[in-house]
Amino acid sequence: MSLKALTILGSTGSIGASTLAVVQRHPNRFRVFALTAQHNVEAMLVQCLAYKPRYAVMLNEQAAEQLAGRLKAVDVETEVLAGPAALAQVAAHPDTDYVMAAIVGAAGLLPSLAAARAGKRVLLANKEALVMSGRLFMDAIRESKAELLPIDSEHNAIFQCLPSQGGKQGVERILLTASGGPFRQRPLADLYTVTPEQAIAHPNWSMGQKISVDSATLMNKGLEVIEASWLFASPLEQIEVVVHPQSTVHSMVAYNDGSVLAQLGNPDMRTPIAYALAWPERIESGVAPLDLFAIARLDFEKPDLARFPCLELAYEAHARGGFATIALNAANEVAVQAFLERRIGFMDIPRLIRDVMKLADAGTPVQLEDMIIQDQVSRSASSSWIKNNTAL
Ligand code: NAD
Ligand code: MG
Repeated sequence: MSLKALTILGSTGSIGASTLAVVQRHPNRFRVFALTAQHNVEAMLVQCLAYKPRYAVMLNEQAAEQLAGRLKAVDVETEVLAGPAALAQVAAHPDTDYVMAAIVGAAGLLPSLAAARAGKRVLLANKEALVMSGRLFMDAIRESKAELLPIDSEHNAIFQCLPSQGGKQGVERILLTASGGPFRQRPLADLYTVTPEQAIAHPNWSMGQKISVDSATLMNKGLEVIEASWLFASPLEQIEVVVHPQSTVHSMVAYNDGSVLAQLGNPDMRTPIAYALAWPERIESGVAPLDLFAIARLDFEKPDLARFPCLELAYEAHARGGFATIALNAANEVAVQAFLERRIGFMDIPRLIRDVMKLADAGTPVQLEDMIIQDQVSRSASSSWIKNNTAL
């Protein structure tokens, strides 16, 4: 067993912290090569002291300067880099073997793609990258012979339940489970006035703010349907969303002989992270064993598209093509941020996305540059929408 060098893109986030928690348990398997963050100097400093990476990258220049000064004062030799190009540089560096792609949102696209193009083992949490660039990303993985391991708990579960010999022989349906989020049982009328605090209080998972709001709108499930479609080369008709409030079954695969395989576990991201890090082996993750008697029952429901229009918008975008999925993702990121800042209401999120998506062309951009332009155009259209729709 050789020691694998790991770069973590977005190490100060929720997935970043869970990744380090698994790595810490296996010092003979993994060493941290590079850590990256947007601007949180204090969190990065603590991680650098604990893991002594060769590189630490801060997106923000001033944060990088501060971090460099603090590290020098305590004689830690980590080299500090700054800016978006440095994120891609550490992701593609010849001395790193594995890259955990855990930046949130479109900001993760270029560094995640850099890791894919450099033939790394890519542990993909950054679903937005795949929603934006699906075909380009999957082609990059194939062409560079990179390994792509899904971190999203549902996709990790599906990966575990698909035929172990590869391919999809006998697979009929993918059953993608959804917790339903904090508003699963709220009447539609109440959803107009829910607050950011209520939206980010997820019943089962502890996660970053953006994905928590996405779970409340069910946009997270919409993004995950698109993610599953790319990861497993499955048409939308083959993917069914199943609301399962206990978040114990992380997803299932149904076969043509009537078998349904499921992966179960506690809702803790250290399980899929450990699986992807050690694949095809299994390692201890620190997650408590599943207590089925405490859970006692497993419920399954159909999603309610009337109360959660974001799920349907995602299906519609994927059917229309890449310009629409980039618009969907960009509009959602801007809308979620505005909701968190109380500039729009919860039910404005799908309204904004629907309007901005209408502006996108049919079809899929082939060049990365065109994807980035579509992203920027949709972001500015979203900002204008917010200025012109002061419903609150
Ligand atoms: P988070 O907000 O907790 O962390 C995000 C990380 O990205 C931080 O380290 C931050 O510094 C960095 N970052 C943010 N903006 C950046 C930018 N513009 N440039 C560079 N770095 C930037 O988010 P999270 O919950 O850890 O989620 C990360 C990704 O993983 C998301 O795509 C999310 O959908 C996915 N995911 C998360 C979970 C979960 O349990 N948290 C589960 C499944 C998938
Ligand atoms: Mg998920």
